[in-house]
Amino acid sequence: MAQNRIIPYGYKIENGKLSIEPEEKHIVVRIYERYANGESYLQIAERLTALGAQYTPEKTHWNKNMVARVLQNKNYLGNDKYPTIIHSELLQSAEKQAKPYTHRMDKHMKALKPYLVCNECGARLQRRLKATGVERWYCPNDTDHISLKVSDVSLVKDIMELQRKLLLSEKCRKTSHAEGKTLNLELIKLKNQIDLAMNEPTPNLEEIKESIMKLAREKYSILENIGEDSYLSHTIERLSDTELDSKLLPTITMKIVVSRTKAIELVLTNGQKIKN
Ligand SMILES: [Zn+2]
Repeated sequence: MAQNRIIPYGYKIENGKLSIEPEEKHIVVRIYERYANGESYLQIAERLTALGAQYTPEKTHWNKNMVARVLQNKNYLGNDKYPTIIHSELLQSAEKQAKPYTHRMDKHMKALKPYLVCNECGARLQRRLKATGVERWYCPNDTDHISLKVSDVSLVKDIMELQRKLLLSEKCRKTSHAEGKTLNLELIKLKNQIDLAMNEPTPNLEEIKESIMKLAREKYSILENIGEDSYLSHTIERLSDTELDSKLLPTITMKIVVSRTKAIELVLTNGQKIKN
């Protein structure tokens, strides 16, 4: 790549050793100072271009990546190989500026990150910041598994959609629960039938026994379902349908499956699946 320098900006080779290139050193210091003053990568790049500063002899047009590369090069502090260009005070004040930027992870994403898994291979998704400061979500097994399109913003949007669908499915379940009450009426009917059969002058004991067993089984299964779902259902009901709830949602989430381009499935702690 012709645009990439072999020697880092600010240095030159002299007598086979790296030494400081005075003009470039001046620009490196300026970049750090401007960044520490709160200018963005782009603002700094535009200013350097306007000044006619050279990145390489052929290149006087600066872009954000070039500025980022300078700001992320720790060699400027000096070491065995590289003479010092930036003093630690300046680096620190630049880093103070950078903090909200590089550490910026949506509070939602922070809470949900441990649950995100790759649809291809099941690996936990990783997140890093590119030189441009933009986040990159990826699968540690294969970078092709997750597309560059996947971002904090897109994930929040997809997961919000899953949350909304979960809430909807819970409302539907509640409705069928009301039907469950009708099922209870069925049980009462069954019980009445048993009572009647017992009062027959010659009761059919086999049939009565069978009915009693059936009644017991039905009662038991209803109880079991109610017990298992109460925490989940209670939590789901408290979810908002307009805002992602990164506090409650993780408490009922086993995993969130991410395909190449989006979050496609929410798997709850009871194994229930909600698809996008
Ligand atoms: Zn994968």
